[in-house]
Amino acid sequence: MHVQNVQYKSSRSVGLARKHLQELRRRDFVDGSALIDGSWIATELKDPVLDPATGEEIAEVARCSSANMDMAITAAERAFPAWRDLLPLERGAILRTWARLMRDHSAELAVLVTSEQGKPLDEARFEIAYGAGFLDWFAAEGERAYGETLPSHKPGSLLQVRMQPIGIAAAITPWNFPVAMITRKAGAALAAGCPVIVKPAPETPLSALAVARLAEEAGIPRGVLQVLVGDPVALSEPLLRDPRVRTLSFTGSTQVGRLLLERSAETVKKVSLELGGHAPLIVFDDVDLHKAVAGAMAAKFATSGQDCLAANRIYVQKGIYGAFVEAFAAAIAQLKVGHGLEPTTNIGPMTKLSVANKCRAQIEDALTKGARLISSKEGPGLGQNFVAPALLCDVTDDMLIAREETFGPVAAVLPFDSEEEVLARANASEMGLAAYVYTDNLRRAIRLSEKIEYGMVGINTASFTGPPIPFGGWKQSGLGREGSRHGIQEYMELKYVCFGDLAA
Ligand code: NAD
Repeated sequence: MHVQNVQYKSSRSVGLARKHLQELRRRDFVDGSALIDGSWIATELKDPVLDPATGEEIAEVARCSSANMDMAITAAERAFPAWRDLLPLERGAILRTWARLMRDHSAELAVLVTSEQGKPLDEARFEIAYGAGFLDWFAAEGERAYGETLPSHKPGSLLQVRMQPIGIAAAITPWNFPVAMITRKAGAALAAGCPVIVKPAPETPLSALAVARLAEEAGIPRGVLQVLVGDPVALSEPLLRDPRVRTLSFTGSTQVGRLLLERSAETVKKVSLELGGHAPLIVFDDVDLHKAVAGAMAAKFATSGQDCLAANRIYVQKGIYGAFVEAFAAAIAQLKVGHGLEPTTNIGPMTKLSVANKCRAQIEDALTKGARLISSKEGPGLGQNFVAPALLCDVTDDMLIAREETFGPVAAVLPFDSEEEVLARANASEMGLAAYVYTDNLRRAIRLSEKIEYGMVGINTASFTGPPIPFGGWKQSGLGREGSRHGIQEYMELKYVCFGDLAA
């Protein structure tokens, strides 16, 4: 059993997710069958889907086997030529229809996301819109996948570079954005002309299967998009060993990413990885305090902290430190913790108990090493996947929270003196996904944006993601980029063609 069997202490919202799921008009969204070669497969063995807020079983899904995955790879191989040979405009039209269907079903998809992932319903609705946006974006990118004509270095010859689909793509996706991480990968693969096999996280299979139903309704042909749920190792093994799978895109932990990269070497797959973050957010004492606090709130507490872009180290210059901590603590105290389906909730449960436990361990470690904890109340009757939003201040670089990603609603504030010092501390990490800088000094903003060793940098903003941006990290935060005009390249091969002997 790969889904954690959690013992929940207590439960304020027992039955809430079940009730919402029972009210869905689309009963097929909770059917739990996997999509293989155009058929919805219900396996004999099933896995439970749990509401992370209460630990209740809310649905059952198929447990696909390695043999099912082998069948899916063969189906994708069969489906590839016809999909590749469609005009980009035709593929784009299907992707745009899929995006429209997602928007039409936004309310129901959001209920699925919140029920199994835990995030507040508003954030789930935002995720559906964000996810649909990648389909529209890549529909257009497919139409613009231009090659090049090269100025020739040989007499009587014409040199071309073409962009062609790489072949079967595998997408292994996480539980924190169970819809958008699928469309960001599948949208790019499908627009490029590749069939794609998705293996979603076992914690969030319902969202993945529901968007696959909409893809099928949009007209994606049999075998072109397949979604298999079940044990991660059993399902990824065939994908890794099979040379017909030409590219692998993964979002998740650095530890698993490293393993997949190593295994992909056997068949020399193209690999794109979006791994952990450990974002620094630097606040200089020249800023508007309220804007900086609002930025820190957004960068820390979105997705209840379970976000690879989350600000993990909030460095505040000493001149503004006391005032910042006070205002930040006051803002955190306003956050409401609860079931994501309760309309007042800002912070839901952690999707996995291991994430909640990691938060608790980081708090404990910081307290033994001298940090101060300012924490809001958890509220009555919440289970052990809940972590109260917490503020740790006077954090030092030797504490666990300053060295590794938290992935939960625990904010760490660290004082600093100078620009030079904070830049060195921010860069002293093997992670390099996102960084944030708050300053009103233009020269300083430009200097830092140049010298900070991160793939994505927000200057005076905590909100920068979306389809047009090249999402990805430096160092051990990953390889390759998703979204933007670069994202489709992960699913394409360059072909150089030389026409010779052209002289009349
Ligand atoms: P994980 O890396 O174990 O899970 C991510 C995906 O990988 C899931 O689909 C999972 O089923 C799959 N997976 C896990 N083990 C696998 C294996 N051996 N072979 C093939 N696939 C495998 O992540 P996690 O344990 O659920 O979360 C741990 C930490 O990872 C988090 O605390 C966070 O730091 C990081 N994380 C990052 C992101 C992100 O957006 N970059 C997303 C999820 C988790």
